[in-house]
Amino acid sequence: MDGLELIERIDRWGTLAPTAIAHESDGRAITYQELKTHSDALAGCLLDELPDDRSPVMVLGHKEPELVVAYLACIKAGHPYIPLDTALPAQRLEIIRASSGARLTLSPQGVHERITLHASARPSETPHEGATQMENGSFERVAYKPEDPFYVIYTSGSTGTPKGVVISLGNLNSFLDWMLVEHPLVEQDEVFLGIVPFSFDVSIMDLYLCLYAGGTHRSLTRDEIGDPARLHRALARSGATAWISTPSFARLCLVERGFGAGTIPNLRRIVLAGEVLSHELASELLDRFPGVPLWNAYGPTEATVLSTSVQLDRELLGRYPDVPIGFPRPGGSVLVMDENGQPVAEGERGELVIVGPHVSPGYLNRPDLTSQAFFTLGNQRAYHTGDWGRALGGLLFFEGRHDDLIKLHGYRIELGDVEAHLKALPGVQDAVVLPTWRDGQPERLVAFIILSERPVRDDFQATLNLRRHLSERLPGYMLPQLYRFVDTFPLTVNGKADRKKLAEMLT
Ligand code: AMP
Repeated sequence: MDGLELIERIDRWGTLAPTAIAHESDGRAITYQELKTHSDALAGCLLDELPDDRSPVMVLGHKEPELVVAYLACIKAGHPYIPLDTALPAQRLEIIRASSGARLTLSPQGVHERITLHASARPSETPHEGATQMENGSFERVAYKPEDPFYVIYTSGSTGTPKGVVISLGNLNSFLDWMLVEHPLVEQDEVFLGIVPFSFDVSIMDLYLCLYAGGTHRSLTRDEIGDPARLHRALARSGATAWISTPSFARLCLVERGFGAGTIPNLRRIVLAGEVLSHELASELLDRFPGVPLWNAYGPTEATVLSTSVQLDRELLGRYPDVPIGFPRPGGSVLVMDENGQPVAEGERGELVIVGPHVSPGYLNRPDLTSQAFFTLGNQRAYHTGDWGRALGGLLFFEGRHDDLIKLHGYRIELGDVEAHLKALPGVQDAVVLPTWRDGQPERLVAFIILSERPVRDDFQATLNLRRHLSERLPGYMLPQLYRFVDTFPLTVNGKADRKKLAEMLT
């Protein structure tokens, strides 16, 4: 894909299939024609509001059609967008605003107001620098280079400050080129389920593949997902042809015994990514959706959504004790390296290092963190994932991490991030956060706390206080569920809190 071909193609559906639904959520829908005219109008407003400026724009909401309008408008106006979910508390949003240099935050309401205002205003008389006048004169498109940032996704950072992964236009085009070969979308009747929030990059795959195909993106809200009966009804009514989610979501659906191919009869593919997929879950999905291709895919945000994938069948599952994460995508490679940066022998364990055109330029405004994780190999960009893995006959296997990053119910969490926020609370002298494990997966977070003073030995009250303060700083999925108050931490020989011993206290 070249330049802004993706955006041009989405716009073209506005003429070819004007009344087709592009995105729908919570009973509200937007057609392709509306998507085109509204995003053009909003882009015009952005060009006026932020003239000669390419600063990132924060887009804050939860699955509303206006968010999709905002993403396209930002790109048309030359601004990378930062998709943010309303699950984030105000303090964390403020940290992101300040560190990203964003000068504007668009909410669904703000999008709506600008479009309405634009409809009643005179078209701009002076074209903006670097912008192109479109045929109908309604919108001026800003020129893009492959290295220009397209979106920035914020992930948990180990010191308590989230880090913004910059994905360039070239990165995204390279990802989509691969996806369109692996999942050719010839039908306009594609219905993609929008399961994960837009702030999680798995959504990049379902949103843009869907809009590219001229299909319908049917986004499930947090409330729908949180209520099993509603979720089942929503899935049954969805007419979905494509399901892309974390294994955690799949597990949630399978709790309903009757859930299967009969519930989503048009389903053509299931792609799971973002966390470990167990044998048992993969087999259960093959049983419940016979004949529907099931894929496992792997990749960090830093390498544009996915870097490996593989279609699973019983024969493949039977061959290995762990479910493989797949083969490296074409045009890129995944090396298994030792601590000296040398490739390990076939079948040996090492760090997964991703190389290729889909590897991000780095973290926004954080050259320090960028140089720690990214490097150049030959003439290609490369990224240290921090994941352990091994390769057997070209097929890759994931074997955990060598740092404190975990995936809890599909969410990426640096334990150090939660700890830093706990330590910043009044009365907390020190804190260690650990996951509990079930069937090899993190199940919930436990915080071990040393309080500076415990005058009233009322742990219940102390827990409530900490939870309340912490929820002002962190989204709900990052909050520990258990708090254990201790007077001291057991120490390692180096004098650090001994996490192993603390973990043993939980068993
Ligand atoms: P994120 O940036 O949120 O996509 O998280 C990336 C991390 O999630 C990776 O570095 C892995 O640790 C983990 N991950 C992603 N996909 C998989 C998978 N298929 N199997 C196991 N772990 C995965």
